[in-house]
Amino acid sequence: MGVKSWLKDFVSLIFPDVCEVCDTTLVHGEKTLCLHCFADIPRTNLHNQVFSEIHKRLAGHTPICKAASFFYYYKENAYARMIQSAKYNNRPMLAYNLAVMFGREIKPDGFFDGIDVILPVPLHWFKELRRGYNQSEEIAKGLSEVSGIPVCDNLVAIRSHATQTRRGSFERWMNTRDIFNVEDPEELEDKHILIVDDVITTGATLLSCADAIHAVVPTATISIASLGFTRSN
Ligand SMILES: [Zn+2]
Repeated sequence: MGVKSWLKDFVSLIFPDVCEVCDTTLVHGEKTLCLHCFADIPRTNLHNQVFSEIHKRLAGHTPICKAASFFYYYKENAYARMIQSAKYNNRPMLAYNLAVMFGREIKPDGFFDGIDVILPVPLHWFKELRRGYNQSEEIAKGLSEVSGIPVCDNLVAIRSHATQTRRGSFERWMNTRDIFNVEDPEELEDKHILIVDDVITTGATLLSCADAIHAVVPTATISIASLGFTRSN
């Protein structure tokens, strides 16, 4: 046994990896979630529908082609807490690992077929500097790992959007208007773009991204993917 793997075993004896949802110690072959919690993910399974609840929420003037969300996001639910943790507790790997899991489930159904490029919803540079990473970019990287589709940083946030949690939907929509900008429209011409975010709540942020792209690249096709999709009940 090499020193490195001995050390790794030793460390995991003291600080074993635990399931993100139920805190039980993970066994060999389990990652992020135990098998039980993995099976119990409140999956949306909406990615095969031509017009799903996700499309409905994102109905605006930019048409959305495909739409997928990994699981339903209920407040205070342990699965929702994983996304919060990936975002605020300096756990970018968690967002990445969940995206890999998600990608593996939608790939066999052909969800990635025809998509040319993945664009994460950008954070304003100041926010990203403070947080150290952009969780949507980690999700994009995870989906890219599974699909082989490149991640692109063509979309930028030109101003910071205030936190969304305490706003009504009209306020949220106003708040996310004209935030995003495409840096190099030519690069996206005729491309099928997958925009990626952590959670879809009102859909205002993703719609704002889609509108920003569509305004300067009307030939682009836009699809959407997120880890969480909120449900009020
Ligand atoms: Zn578990």
